[in-house]
Amino acid sequence: MVTHTLGFAVRRTRPAPHQLSADPLANPRLESGDVIHDFHTHSFLSDGVLSPTELIRRAAVAGYSTIAVTDHAGPGNIEFVLDQLRRDCATASQHWPIVALPGVEITHVPPATIRELARRARRAGAAVVAVHGETVTEPVEPGTNRAAIDCDDVDLLCHPGLLTLEEALRAAARGCFLEVSGRKGHNFANGHVVRTALAAGARLVLNSDGHAPEDLLSERFCGLVLRGAALPESEIQTVLQENAKALRERAQRVWLPATV
Ligand SMILES: [Zn+2]
Ligand SMILES: [Zn+2]
Repeated sequence: MVTHTLGFAVRRTRPAPHQLSADPLANPRLESGDVIHDFHTHSFLSDGVLSPTELIRRAAVAGYSTIAVTDHAGPGNIEFVLDQLRRDCATASQHWPIVALPGVEITHVPPATIRELARRARRAGAAVVAVHGETVTEPVEPGTNRAAIDCDDVDLLCHPGLLTLEEALRAAARGCFLEVSGRKGHNFANGHVVRTALAAGARLVLNSDGHAPEDLLSERFCGLVLRGAALPESEIQTVLQENAKALRERAQRVWLPATV
């Protein structure tokens, strides 16, 4: 077992039952001052309560290393949202110790339109293009998961609900990240998402889907959500750090604040 400076113990083998804490809240490995990455949040440019800048500021103070602001978007508002987020994220990233990334969450659109909308989002400066997946709590049109995964401009499929193994295999092959959701309701299917993604070799990230200050992630909450979804101990570090950093590097390759 190796304990990283990031604080999470990485196990290469399945832990013996006696090694698991009965109370995850009491687990000291979740209290170590690790950095937090979150690629799915909302400001008042859609249905969040904070301005983009206040959201980023609060995230920086809460210990975030990375935040993507990914307001809900559809055919009518992609450019409107990104024009503001690009400028707010650039200013915040230049003055505060946080990487703030402009993005969108393409939400409740016909699957046949996702490819063109994602292309528009990228052209408008989105560093993170996310799609609101087939959560079990809303009538998202079937076929949304598949359309998102098959689109080159989509980085992240959020709360994909009861995604199929075939979809997860395609996500793995195409490099589309799948989300474990910190949001009540969307997280009902987290266990299924984790099991299916691991079976397929698809990369998972944990996001808050935060709409208000109290939704921002903490290390403790990350550990609870991932363990609650039965993610093996050996994968916690991978999801919270390695996968998140890979997604952040991808985003930074397509978005240069200096060009704003
Ligand atoms: Zn969503
Ligand atoms: Zn969302």
